[in-house]
Amino acid sequence: MKATKVNLANLPTPIKKARFLSKELGVNIYLKRDDLTGAEISGNKIRKLEYAFKLLMDRGYTSVITTGGIQSNHCRATAAAATMLGLKSVLLLRVNEEPKIEGNFLLDKLFGAEVRHCTPEEYKTSRNEIMANIAKEKSAKGEKCFVIPEGASFGIGSMGYFEAMEEIVNQEKELGIMFDTVVLATGSGGTYSGLYLANKYYNLQKRVVGFAVCDDSNYFKNHIHNINKEALQFLDKEVELSVDDIEINDKYVGIGYAISREEELDFIKYVASNEAVVLDPVYTVKGMYGLYNEIKAGNFNKSKNILFIHTGGLFGVFPKQDQFKF
Ligand SMILES: *Cc1c(COP(=O)(O)O)cnc(C)c1O
Repeated sequence: MKATKVNLANLPTPIKKARFLSKELGVNIYLKRDDLTGAEISGNKIRKLEYAFKLLMDRGYTSVITTGGIQSNHCRATAAAATMLGLKSVLLLRVNEEPKIEGNFLLDKLFGAEVRHCTPEEYKTSRNEIMANIAKEKSAKGEKCFVIPEGASFGIGSMGYFEAMEEIVNQEKELGIMFDTVVLATGSGGTYSGLYLANKYYNLQKRVVGFAVCDDSNYFKNHIHNINKEALQFLDKEVELSVDDIEINDKYVGIGYAISREEELDFIKYVASNEAVVLDPVYTVKGMYGLYNEIKAGNFNKSKNILFIHTGGLFGVFPKQDQFKF
């Protein structure tokens, strides 16, 4: 890899066996605890941001702008990382109505981020344009403002999960376990991209499965393929890319991004009460619920040791507290 990073996350994150789920499903399921990358910066986004921030600071940027939903883990981690590094942050957050200051959004405010709002329609059609305009506005005031795309899912961000796969390979040696299958929730594609690239680069031959939490499989295959192409410039060796070996399962999106079905919230309770691991309602529950059902359906019969990446999101549980049934 040709890219370098700033060190912010607690790495390597531990790998622990999910005893209850392994026993119930009759296959070894391990958790890569990327929800433990930090407190303020917890979750998967910080791995991508370590590389993005290094690049933008090297280029003399003094502030960052990024975007996501009102409860975005990515925006919260970006705001925290910016403050840690002495940079300013602007967050363009998608909202329907006046949002309650809770969960990740509360933390954004605590970290001192400047918050702007946009409607779901604006987000869909013109978020990058809006961010470019904010960057221009800031530069008129003497700031040099770098635009980080949604989820930090772009070429340099992928290097964070390229490195995570290297970390996994080292842990395989320490633990004496080979993970033949890697499973994760996919929302903007960068996490999948990094894992995919390292899988190819080192010819690890792992099955890497992303469970979509929005959009559909075709959308993600193309989107991830584009991120992969952009990321190649940071690798020191050619990697053969193909859209066809990107595996995205879109059967567990449910009723939409960040919207929970009762069975998903019940599954959070089920896993927490038996495993003492809390899945988040937006990403990891859809990924794990998908994996659970697909194992039961026989679609992981060739897997012996499955590594599920717990990508974080704990703060997203609290704004949903009234929807749980006890
Ligand atoms: C963003 C996020 C994901 C998805 O990662 P992408 O790289 O955006 O696909 C998964 N889990 C959590 C908790 C996240 O915040």
